[in-house]
Amino acid sequence: MQILKNHNLKPYTSFGVDAYAAQFVIVTTLTELKSALKIPAPQRLILGGGSNLLFCDDFAGLVIRICLTGITVNESADDVVSLHVAAGENWHEFVQWTLAQGYDGLENLALIPGVVGAAPVQNIGAYGVELKDFCDYVDVLDTETLTIRRYTPAECQFDYRDSIFKGELKDIAVITAVGFKLSKPWIAKINYGPLANLGNDASALTIFKQVCLTRQQKLPDPNKLGNAGSFFKNPIINKAQFDVIADKHPTMPHYPAGDKIKLAAGWLIDQCNLKGYQQGGAQVHTEQALVIVNTGTATAHDIIMLAQHIHTTVLTRFAVALQHEVRFIGRDGETDLAEVCRG
Ligand SMILES: Cc1cc2nc3c(=O)[nH]c(=O)nc-3n(C[C@H](O)[C@H](O)[C@H](O)COP(=O)(O)OP(=O)(O)OC[C@H]3O[C@@H](n4cnc5c(N)ncnc54)[C@H](O)[C@@H]3O)c2cc1C
Repeated sequence: MQILKNHNLKPYTSFGVDAYAAQFVIVTTLTELKSALKIPAPQRLILGGGSNLLFCDDFAGLVIRICLTGITVNESADDVVSLHVAAGENWHEFVQWTLAQGYDGLENLALIPGVVGAAPVQNIGAYGVELKDFCDYVDVLDTETLTIRRYTPAECQFDYRDSIFKGELKDIAVITAVGFKLSKPWIAKINYGPLANLGNDASALTIFKQVCLTRQQKLPDPNKLGNAGSFFKNPIINKAQFDVIADKHPTMPHYPAGDKIKLAAGWLIDQCNLKGYQQGGAQVHTEQALVIVNTGTATAHDIIMLAQHIHTTVLTRFAVALQHEVRFIGRDGETDLAEVCRG
């Protein structure tokens, strides 16, 4: 394991902006991970595929990139396949692999960038399905004691783009592996968007292909146009607030969220005519208003300024405060849009 000093993180993040880490290591085994956690540093950041991060500044601490690999299968129960998957496995390749083995269930989550170990962090979701629907357990290394503890899904506190790993366990836990339970018989989840046209006899592979096709049509490929997927979360508001907005915008898309209502952040941004709006090298994607892209020359500052403009414009027009889904990392650790704009 080599400690690299003043290392450029640009190749490790899907936004593709320059930012330097004071120290950087890649770990491929648990032993290396434990050694890396002993390296003296003012703070550390665990990095997966870098597809949900914006480095707002150079990082003054140690970045540990998780490249642990390996998948173990347990088919002992008649109606369930159990998979134990190391944190550094590529998510999409893992989904593809499950389908090739005849283990159906994860097809709606195809083509989400990043690695398996990051998937529980924000409880990744797409096309009506979330990681929590298949998660059996999450193995977590305590950064102080260097011991592994297994968390049940309930203990993970999964919620919409949220989990205990963004709260209580932030910065003190490293996910080393995720356990999945895929049930047989498999039930297709096709009641969402373009999947609804597939018909009831659609196979998992058909759903997988449709999800890939739709995502390729809708979302910019980070390898061609830097981005971190949905920049903002879909806001969840109360009924009274919803009624006020819906009164003026009766066709506004909305979805039930418990006793509250979830709005489509992309729709709100689009209503503000922000598609294509540019700040330096950062742009609101011309096709998908929820995505901020790096047109090639964007700095973190450009992206932050654009995000702030979107936030203020939507707040002024709809009185809805968007929250960013992308994690903001400052010099000394995690920060947020309000804080970087104040500073
Ligand atoms: C084009 C595009 C489309 C996307 N579509 C979706 C989508 O449909 N649904 C969705 O939910 N997300 C989506 N995303 C966001 C992103 O892909 C997911 O959040 C993904 O899980 C991030 O994985 P990563 O490995 O890149 O994590 P990173 O960006 O490297 O890290 C994300 C966070 O997780 C932490 N982390 C990473 N690994 C570990 C670990 N082993 N232990 C503890 N903490 C860890 C990091 O410190 C960081 O805070 C999309 C992104 C892009 C670029």
